Amino acid sequence: MITRFCRRQVFTIEASNSFLDFFAYILIKYTSIMVKIILDKSKCVGCGACQAICPKYFELGQDGKSKLKKGKNNSDKEKLEIDEIDCAQEAVESCPAQCIHIEN
Ligand code: SF4
Repeated sequence: MITRFCRRQVFTIEASNSFLDFFAYILIKYTSIMVKIILDKSKCVGCGACQAICPKYFELGQDGKSKLKKGKNNSDKEKLEIDEIDCAQEAVESCPAQCIHIEN
């Protein structure tokens, strides 16, 4: 199973054999685009759900609030460009403060 964020949609492709796996990989690889995770730290309540669900992109900082690993800090908003959404969509959905967003 391959899941990627592509053109504002999450595509999940399940392939039953290696040829279909390869075809799905090529299709996704050449149609995917960069997306941004945007974290509004001013709304973060420091529950740690994003870090638990998606440690690839999120961690709790010394201030008790979430931060993006290798993210660019712009006042209260951090941004990180990614080409694989992976677990970030689940982090968006699990954040109780709704302070994580994904944009093209
Ligand atoms: S899930 Fe949301 S509120 Fe909780 S730590 Fe992460 S960004 Fe902050």
